[in-house]
Amino acid sequence: MKWQNKGFEFEELGKRFQESSKLIFIGEDFDQAHYYVNKPIEKLLDFLDVDIEFIKFPKKFMRLGLVTKLLLLFYIKKYKLKDEKAVIIPHCHYSEICCINKLTKYLKRFLPQSLIYHTNDFFEKYLSVYSAYTQNKTYLRDTCIIVTTICTLNCKYCLNFTPFIQNPAAISLDKLKEEASIYFKSIDKVSFFQISGGEPLSYKELPEYIEWLAENYNNQIGQILLATNGTLIPNEKLTDVLKRHKIILLLDNYTDAVPRTKQTRDKLIKHLNENGIDYRNYESGQKFFKFFPANEDYSLWSEEDLISRADKCWGLQPCRNLRNGRIYYCNFSSFAVTAGIIQDDPVNYYDLNNPNLVNKKELMEFALGYSELGYDTFCKLCNGINSANTLTRDIAGRQASGKIKWHEGMTLKEYDKM
Ligand code: SF4
Repeated sequence: MKWQNKGFEFEELGKRFQESSKLIFIGEDFDQAHYYVNKPIEKLLDFLDVDIEFIKFPKKFMRLGLVTKLLLLFYIKKYKLKDEKAVIIPHCHYSEICCINKLTKYLKRFLPQSLIYHTNDFFEKYLSVYSAYTQNKTYLRDTCIIVTTICTLNCKYCLNFTPFIQNPAAISLDKLKEEASIYFKSIDKVSFFQISGGEPLSYKELPEYIEWLAENYNNQIGQILLATNGTLIPNEKLTDVLKRHKIILLLDNYTDAVPRTKQTRDKLIKHLNENGIDYRNYESGQKFFKFFPANEDYSLWSEEDLISRADKCWGLQPCRNLRNGRIYYCNFSSFAVTAGIIQDDPVNYYDLNNPNLVNKKELMEFALGYSELGYDTFCKLCNGINSANTLTRDIAGRQASGKIKWHEGMTLKEYDKM
């Protein structure tokens, strides 16, 4: 989205939030806030000074058509939901998405004047607006930090451009601490803070970094996530840290493209299970978007088309990379700078280095996908991801033959053949 009214894009909704007296969650499983957050909803919202009410609506009743409707009408009366100026959020375990969808639909029908948000939409978008308008606080759904560009694999369509990085290197622990210190001066809460790479399990000071993050920013981080390609097993020290700080591993699956990774990946899963470390296990058959190099000359696209594609890429809240005290409009744009493919450009990031210059409403809008251009300068070289890219996909983890020198004008066709 292109800023039309910077700092004031959500005025109307913000005023309605300011008039609301409390947050009401209705449903079940309030002890897990989100698919990626193993914490109760209350913990994720503890940065806000607001009344929160939890109304238990049993899951078994959500699955029934007429019974659900009648029971909901009874609940609306019993809890006086028609009179409440509250934000209402239907919620239950992420695996029960149909139940939440149904509850949201019926509540919207029965309470057309109320602010009702599906739990995913609330945590991915509306909580950011709510926090900014009711308490002048900044909530981001997620941010990712790269601890190293050194990787154990060399995926051809790596989202972090591994084959193009000529001199991969680990980031110093001091620099990583500095990044987080700058970030948390302006961000009051982030749902998930993702540590990524390269291969982050190869980063020697990972235990120290996680320990330091947990010690200093435990209250501001909903959940620390660790993305891994599954080719390394954490040593004793790291295992202990992952366990104590309840880190969730995001376990990619490249076994179709690189069968030799299967044995270690299986070992890793066994190790995590034995140590009670949680993980999200991606199935085999994963696909990578061939998002780069460009399939056509996007610099010929109209501004409108570039904006519309960038909006489609990221959904409700784009994924943000933290680098040099800035958060980037698009992760891939920031990674492309690191790989030497494009130059840094201030239109692609929001600078947090001077907290006095941070406008919380502008920052919230940027987090939700607004910017000066409405897209990223890298969009002119990128085929896009998610629903924006239905044409160019490949088996996840296909390996490149070695380091590849990027040159201007390189096409996808040319790269495919390499
Ligand atoms: S087109 Fe590429 S650079 Fe642009 S927003 Fe989508 S993924 Fe990011």
